[in-house]
Amino acid sequence: PKRIFTFRQGNAEKTADAIAALGVKGANLALLASLDAPVPPGFTIATHAWREMKGAGGDLPQTLKADLRSSVEWLEGVTDRRFGGDKRPLLLAVRTSAGTSMPGLAESVLDVGLTDRTVDVVAEELNDCDFAYRSYRRFIESYASLVFDADLSEFEDLSDRERERAGWSTEPRNVSEWRMLIGRYHDFLERELGAVVPQTPLQQLVEVIQASFASWRSPMASSSRLIHAIPENAGLAVTVHGMIFNERNQKSGRGRAISRDLATGEALMTGEFALGGRIEAFHEAPETIDLSSLAENGDAPFPSIFADLAGHVRRIEAHVGDAVEVEFMVGDGALFLMQYRPARRNAPEAVRVAVELVSDGIIEPQDAILRIDPASLELLLHPTIDRTAELTVLAKGMGASPGAASGVIAFTSERTQAFAAEERPVILVRNETHPEDIHGMHVADGVLTIRGGTTSHAAVVARGIGRPCVTGAGSLRINAERGTLHAGGKVLKEGDMITIDGSSGEVILGEARLIRPSLAGDFATLMEFADAARRMRVRTNADTPDEARAARNFGAEGIGLCRTEHMFFEGDRIQTMREMILASDEFGRRRALDKLLPIQRSDFIELFEIMAGLPVTIRLLDPPLHEFLPKSESEIAETALTLDVDEAVVRHRIQALEEFNPMLGHRGCRLAISYPEIAEMQARAIFEAAIEAGERAGAAVVPEIMVPLVSLRRELDFLKARIDAVAARVMEERDRRIDYLVGTMIELPRAVVRADSIAEVAEFFSFGTNDLTQTVYGISRDDAGTFLSTYVREGILERDPFQTVDVEGVGELIALATEKARRTRPDISLGVCGEQGGDPASIAFFEETGLDYVSCSPFRVPIARLAAAQSAI
Ligand code: PEP
Ligand code: MG
Repeated sequence: PKRIFTFRQGNAEKTADAIAALGVKGANLALLASLDAPVPPGFTIATHAWREMKGAGGDLPQTLKADLRSSVEWLEGVTDRRFGGDKRPLLLAVRTSAGTSMPGLAESVLDVGLTDRTVDVVAEELNDCDFAYRSYRRFIESYASLVFDADLSEFEDLSDRERERAGWSTEPRNVSEWRMLIGRYHDFLERELGAVVPQTPLQQLVEVIQASFASWRSPMASSSRLIHAIPENAGLAVTVHGMIFNERNQKSGRGRAISRDLATGEALMTGEFALGGRIEAFHEAPETIDLSSLAENGDAPFPSIFADLAGHVRRIEAHVGDAVEVEFMVGDGALFLMQYRPARRNAPEAVRVAVELVSDGIIEPQDAILRIDPASLELLLHPTIDRTAELTVLAKGMGASPGAASGVIAFTSERTQAFAAEERPVILVRNETHPEDIHGMHVADGVLTIRGGTTSHAAVVARGIGRPCVTGAGSLRINAERGTLHAGGKVLKEGDMITIDGSSGEVILGEARLIRPSLAGDFATLMEFADAARRMRVRTNADTPDEARAARNFGAEGIGLCRTEHMFFEGDRIQTMREMILASDEFGRRRALDKLLPIQRSDFIELFEIMAGLPVTIRLLDPPLHEFLPKSESEIAETALTLDVDEAVVRHRIQALEEFNPMLGHRGCRLAISYPEIAEMQARAIFEAAIEAGERAGAAVVPEIMVPLVSLRRELDFLKARIDAVAARVMEERDRRIDYLVGTMIELPRAVVRADSIAEVAEFFSFGTNDLTQTVYGISRDDAGTFLSTYVREGILERDPFQTVDVEGVGELIALATEKARRTRPDISLGVCGEQGGDPASIAFFEETGLDYVSCSPFRVPIARLAAAQSAI
């Protein structure tokens, strides 16, 4: 097989699978050459030659040496130079070229072909003795380091000694001083290492290639392959090309050009160029680039180079179909392109560039969709911290709800509200949050908890209302008595300013500078592309009008989960709720529920109106009742007063409702079965609201009522019968027909196993992956934070299964329930409303499983839209 592949401007010998055969640098130069870009002519010894050589025990096989000789001859022809020639000697650069970059591979060796003899020829040709000898010295150093494993600091000592002896200051002053220094190098190598730098260029080349190939087995390269799972026999290529003297004079230099202005997406070349030790940034139409400031005598050294460069860069971008960064060199006024790669960019830049590439006709919308990391959109939706400034990190927890916020520390909801009333930005800092903290969370700019994971109460609520949140910042301590927060050696008080980064989990001292997002323009265009490409629908989890509006703004196509319990913590509703819970009999409960009915009804009307005809799924009360109970002494006293009972009675009821493990206790549909009047009140509020909202809008509203935490079909039978009865009553009272759906959440393993039977009753399923993961693993979602990170660190789990669906376990169950449900009811609507509904990797699995929609926090809606599009392509 062909071992060596040549390239020169306008022409490159082709091979299949160029990167595997030629490595990145070799494949890059070949592509640039075939695009007619000016590259230094050269050739790449392919990876299969390396494989042959491994068998031959490290020396280049004769066959390869023969190929190498003819390639060098070819290069001599192309360049009109001779390798080791007495006139116009050919000098070469030798570079290792692997398929993936890895540390430990040989560094480039430049100026191969310089000898005691050719160095003088070069000096004469360039009329620059210092340059020629400087190059020769560098060549000997890198040759000795690579081939003889010599220690470079020895050469420094040697130079220092020679300088002192001969009396020059920075480098030798004339040919004889240079020759003396080079002579010392030779003597040293021979004396200390018994080594000689060959004076035959071809032998130099062979030795350098051999040593470059051998660097594949250096300990650093080997361990890097182990870490990154790069196969041992992937192999190394070596690229050899003509030298470019980019450091030679005022008409030489090197730089980097990017095909676009990444900040605007515009096709305006930007970059930087280094000349004579100075670096100039350029960011303008190339024709107008004026490099006169770089030239010593004030004249622009090479006016046409940037126009040429811009033309090549534009062609490469069109070929690659992406914004590119190109490395270039200028040698004595001639331009050479050395390498290109996709231009690195941050999230806003990536979106702009992708959309501009589509509008410039370079790529298709599909390519733009696939090119953006959905998770990176977070950075477009939330403020981010300006990382160019100095930051003092106090602690690191989990990034539980993205975005950054600065504010003063408040340790209670009350203090948070007080600060907010003074219009001061505020961060609520708690050990963990509870439902009654919702007031505080709503007015806080950010939430920080010391305990808890990514599906803890604080995390879920904060994501819902779009507040940045850091959870599990376990190195912090709150001293409640003193009202202080301890971070390592630092003590902060209530009212002191901190900043949290809900993406990285960092807690930062003081007020950091924030960068604000924008949703219009290119972002909106990208979302249009995504919407046209996706199959799955994207709904939102929203409990309040604010959330519902935010979600619509982000493109939600309905509400997939309204957690009605959150509605009971608004204002003084909690008192009525407590009245209901603490009532001693059904009569008392119904009296309190009658007061809650109009409140719920108006909540639902507002949600229906905001969603304007889109589906709205409302879930019946889910959490254990005790969450609503008064906790502090003053709350107990206040409740006793409003209820007109003894405090002892209140305490007694609280005790009676206490559970060891409330999350696996009296919650979800179990609560509705014990107290059907609660579910009936909610159903009535939903139906009455649907009628009213429907009348106002002049179009019917079809509510979806969702029963949580079902494990038995009979639970659903029991509740559906009551919901249907309420519907019949409301229809009769109002003399109006209502269409509605009754469905259930699938969030317990038993419900999965019995999904076929449950689907006989349920008209839709929504997978509650938070509880399903909790119950499948038997891991408490509120306590997982303390040990799951260890699991991930130790590689026992690849990821937090509460964040990304565990395909093999929980995912298998979702697929099973899907299949069973469709067998019973082929047109059943299937969605996901747990946190995973907004997680791109999970969304890919849900698409594969054929679910109809995902539902996620408002701020994750755009992420889900893009991820759904990607998984459908
Ligand atoms: C779930 O369990 O996934 C779910 C959406 O319900 P919640 O988080 O309210 O328990
Ligand atoms: Mg649940």
